[in-house]
Amino acid sequence: MLRIVVLGAAAGGGVPQWNCGCPVCRTARSEQPNIARTQASIAVSRDGAHWYLVNASPDLRQQLIATPQLHPKSGQLRHSPIAGVILTNGEIDAITGLLSMREGSPYTLYAHARVLDILKANSIFNVLSDKNVKRLPIEIERAFEPTLPDGSPSGIEVQAFPVPGKGAWYLEGKAHPTGGDAAGDTLGLRIADKASGKYFFFLAACARVTDDLKTRIKGAPLVFFDGTVWRDDELVVAGLGQKTGQGMGHIAMSGKDGAIESLAGLDIARKVFLHINNSNPVLFDGSDERRHAEHAGWQVPSDGTEITL
Ligand SMILES: [Zn+2]
Repeated sequence: MLRIVVLGAAAGGGVPQWNCGCPVCRTARSEQPNIARTQASIAVSRDGAHWYLVNASPDLRQQLIATPQLHPKSGQLRHSPIAGVILTNGEIDAITGLLSMREGSPYTLYAHARVLDILKANSIFNVLSDKNVKRLPIEIERAFEPTLPDGSPSGIEVQAFPVPGKGAWYLEGKAHPTGGDAAGDTLGLRIADKASGKYFFFLAACARVTDDLKTRIKGAPLVFFDGTVWRDDELVVAGLGQKTGQGMGHIAMSGKDGAIESLAGLDIARKVFLHINNSNPVLFDGSDERRHAEHAGWQVPSDGTEITL
């Protein structure tokens, strides 16, 4: 059995974002606090005792407080059920939560070499000592089994694959510590319970759905997918910024090449949006966009949603 908890469903900045007065952020601060969401991350467990985070958002501390499954075991002075963190990219909203996990509890950090190089190049991450936090490279298309704190196998199999995306925006126009092209900057994950064979996909960042990707995820029991914007020019039209969804490496939900249309007919049992930007009207309960998404079989999760496979 796999247990998955959505720790946060929002894109970078969260809902509401500190400096944003858009309709969604304003409403989240006032009449509908239930539409507030923290920045995207999930936790996965097979046994309910040991958990792996997929990405560590800047809201991690708040997310851990809100998630009883991730509290220290009662009776223990120092303990965390978090056995590891798997990073799918080097964006600020995926890595800065690591700085809230610096108090000496051991865990393993899994990331592509390009993301590990970003961490290595930023001395602030040296606060995670090699002794407590082992950093292991993820190789593309090579499945691995994260270990439990005592070194034994977790029974969970993770396979990473590259998806169309963009490198971290703070490195835009600058040299990447690894150099070379962007392969490995944005990963999708297939996470499986080895015993039951149950599996799901994590694709919280994806710029477009290729035929290869369709083949890969066809028939999956569960897919978490990039829900950053409803329409590609949403931020521009709302006067919030100059970047399109594509310009940020994110597919739109709507439109001919959008996520809803692209994943229709792939026989995916459960489709859940993640990494939803605060500009996205799908966050409003009862909006036309929400109805459209739900009618097409998509879920817009609240923080804390638990899914069992
Ligand atoms: Zn906003």
